[in-house]
Amino acid sequence: MNAEIIAVGSEMLTPERLDTNSLWLTNELNQLGVEVVAKHIVGDLRERLAGEIRRAMDNAGIVIVSGGLGPTEDDVTRDAAALALGRVQVCHEEIVRGIEARFARMKRVMPETNRRQAMVMEGAEVLFNDRGTAPGQWIPFEKGAVALLPGPPYELKAMFTRECLPRLKGLVPPTVIRTLTMRTTGMSEAALDEAISPIYSCYKKITTTVLAHNSDIQIHFRARCASDAEAGAMLEEIRPKIEAALGDFIYSRNTDPLEVVVGRKLLAAHATLSVAESATGGGLADRISSVPGSSAWFLGGMVTYSRRLKTELLGIPADLIDLHGPVSSEVTGAMATAARARTGATWSIAVTGNAGPTTDGDSAGLGDFYVGIAGPAETTVTQRVWPSPDRMRVRAFAAQLALDLLNRKLGR
Ligand code: ATP
Repeated sequence: MNAEIIAVGSEMLTPERLDTNSLWLTNELNQLGVEVVAKHIVGDLRERLAGEIRRAMDNAGIVIVSGGLGPTEDDVTRDAAALALGRVQVCHEEIVRGIEARFARMKRVMPETNRRQAMVMEGAEVLFNDRGTAPGQWIPFEKGAVALLPGPPYELKAMFTRECLPRLKGLVPPTVIRTLTMRTTGMSEAALDEAISPIYSCYKKITTTVLAHNSDIQIHFRARCASDAEAGAMLEEIRPKIEAALGDFIYSRNTDPLEVVVGRKLLAAHATLSVAESATGGGLADRISSVPGSSAWFLGGMVTYSRRLKTELLGIPADLIDLHGPVSSEVTGAMATAARARTGATWSIAVTGNAGPTTDGDSAGLGDFYVGIAGPAETTVTQRVWPSPDRMRVRAFAAQLALDLLNRKLGR
């Protein structure tokens, strides 16, 4: 069964406010096996909202409307839904008394305008709100149901969980959802999709989501089936095909990020790590030290941003820097080797680069990056060029590449 979500409120059409209810609702609906096929944000306009509700009812069995159930003139959801369904509204005295009692508990008198909140559409079930004044409504129609829920997330979540979930379970055929997650790095989103879309498009019961961020890609395969066994078997069938298509670009078979994967391998090998950072300015150490328990394998590092500190802290000869420039294979390799020697770590990573938007006049070009990895057997240096004006993005790429290179050296 499919669902559409409509968020009501002109404030969400401004740059200041985000519709977060629909994200939460989408997750809840997905857990039930319901696919959200469209989301809309509509301002506080009765006719426009009525049209949107009608259109959503044509396209989906479940329509969830959030917001616009307050007592004021611009709270148009009740009227719009009544218009969309062509039904009249009646005042529920019981709801009025409930709202009055709520005001009385706060030693206040209910304003007359709050009576609006007691208007309920013919044929609707009232959804109790224990966190605010606005009751919700559950309106069955031929294909399914329309739910009117309050806008404040705190009220909406409680009402959905208590009032809508049991009703939805009666409406939606029982479905089991199982998820398979993989993470890759070093491959563009387009190349990845080209490699795996011929595979996943053959599985109609699997929904594939590709989430790319700073050269890290998470792939989620969600199998929706009638039984756990069927969902599990389907994921086990697709898994080796995807693994064969992506090869060693896959670094994680769950949601663990690279720093966690690297840390686990270092710990298992009783090995340690240190870093010498220039262009990433501590960003690499930040990622590594954010892993809980990383003190067992991460010794620390140096942010040797200036030429002077490269020489003073790491002992890189000034004439080597003058000869090749601070952003060079020679200096980066020397930094990794020196960091390893000075910290006694099993592995050391060094990063240099020109993150831009300008260079400091050395011989390397804009976007040139070097990553050095010093290990028990050798020191290797890898060069990449990311000619992007986005300084933070290329620094994130460099930290990701550094962790990827070390991960590969530690073995799959
Ligand atoms: P109330 O009785 O509080 O007026 P309501 O149902 O009329 O409830 P709105 O007035 O539409 O709800 O929204 C109240 C507040 O709830 C908004 O100012 C906003 O902070 C929050 N809110 C509304 N809709 C959303 C949404 N889709 N996502 C996140 N927050 C929302």
